[in-house]
Amino acid sequence: MNPLFTQLSLRAELLSALKKAGFSQMTPIQAESLPELLTGKDVVAQAKTGSGKTLAFSLAMLQQLDASNQQIQGLILAPTRELANQVAEEVRKLAKELGNIKVLTICGGEPIGPQISSLEHGAHIVVGTPGRVEEHLFKGTLDLTQVSHFILDEADQMLDMGFIDAIESIAVYLPEARQTMMFSATYPKDIEQVSQRFMQTPTLVKGETETLNRQIKQQFFPLKNNKLRFNTLRLLLLQHKPESCIVFCNTKVETKKLFTELQQTGLQVVVLHGDLAQVERQRMLLRFANKSASVLVATDVAARGLDIEDIDMVVNYHMALDPQTHVHRVGRTGRGGKKGFACSLYGENETFKVKQLSELYEREFNPSPTPPLSLLDKPVYKPRMVTVMIDAGKKQKVRAGDIVGCLTGENGIGSAHIGTITVQDNQAYIAIYRDAVKPAIRKLHADKVKGKRIKAKRLV
Ligand code: ADP
Ligand code: MG
Repeated sequence: MNPLFTQLSLRAELLSALKKAGFSQMTPIQAESLPELLTGKDVVAQAKTGSGKTLAFSLAMLQQLDASNQQIQGLILAPTRELANQVAEEVRKLAKELGNIKVLTICGGEPIGPQISSLEHGAHIVVGTPGRVEEHLFKGTLDLTQVSHFILDEADQMLDMGFIDAIESIAVYLPEARQTMMFSATYPKDIEQVSQRFMQTPTLVKGETETLNRQIKQQFFPLKNNKLRFNTLRLLLLQHKPESCIVFCNTKVETKKLFTELQQTGLQVVVLHGDLAQVERQRMLLRFANKSASVLVATDVAARGLDIEDIDMVVNYHMALDPQTHVHRVGRTGRGGKKGFACSLYGENETFKVKQLSELYEREFNPSPTPPLSLLDKPVYKPRMVTVMIDAGKKQKVRAGDIVGCLTGENGIGSAHIGTITVQDNQAYIAIYRDAVKPAIRKLHADKVKGKRIKAKRLV
């Protein structure tokens, strides 16, 4: 058994929040880093994706947080909006019992005006992407003079994305007396240099690093020419009918193109890239996680840190640029002892990459035959679930229970036909088994939810 959270001297409110979340044992990186972090030391922590790094730095920060002080006390930098939001959500959950803690996300790709007014109202913690945080500092709309905890999450990714200059200029605005923490999935050389610049004799702790999962079944498909790439992917999807498949592309442009092309074939597909508006990203992710979209097209950066379980297939639409990235991509499937499956498409000039991987995995990867073309004549498969969106949410006082109540009422559908329900400010998303979608929408239209007529529509 791993060490327990109760063995740490955490505030009662945090222990209670952990208990509510069902977390009792620490993950290895938490057990390694928290004792150091709680003494206030600077720490560089490295552990593979999904190892619970967010919780480690959130606890260390919240342990010291003063709810009665309306100044920004914690600054967390993350590489993408997606990750910043994910971190902010987790911090909010943990902070629930500490009082009215305000956690703001400050990310690029969103209008800056509303962020400025939110900041004027005060916040305890800011989670942001480096570029936008820097912009606020230059404008004078962000006061970091009271920050006691500075966190760089997914530091390796931020360096890859060229955020180093922004991070350096942000650090200048921070008080000298602070705790700095750096969390990363890998530990490239430049991290060490960076850590020396921002940190005071940091302790290095390591959790589980990404290991080669040799249990994952891997197939490699040679392409005689690039034109065959798209149909080979289609054939693989039609043959294996994955419920949740991530298709990796090397560039944003490619993800956009592939997304449109796959959509035209009738597959239920979503995409993640940096140009999506926040609502769109959330919607894409939600549809993938609730199993109403079977394919997610993404770049490595967009998929980084996404916490989605149960991926049954990974496709490398193009070979990853290096073996480590391949291991990372493929490691998204076959989690928790489940069977994993990965397919990689490669051009003739990339045979050397397959050889490299054969050596790395100590396994002979022979070329696999393309599935039969006749599969293309069959109708595409449909996911089990469909997402229905309604135009009412938290602001209209709608809770998941109200939606279930309406759906399962007279002439409604059985509760077994209802999947995940996500209630947001002004809308809610309901996953419904395909067979029950029509009666469900009829019922939602016929009834009132919280005394209000609502509109319901299926998302495609
Ligand atoms: P990382 O940042 O290391 O990639 P996350 O912090 O996103 O990983 O954590 C991955 C998942 O593990 C999250 O769903 C998180 O809630 C969960 N988790 C974190 N710590 C624990 C724990 N001690 N016990 C059980 N689940 C945990
Ligand atoms: Mg993380």
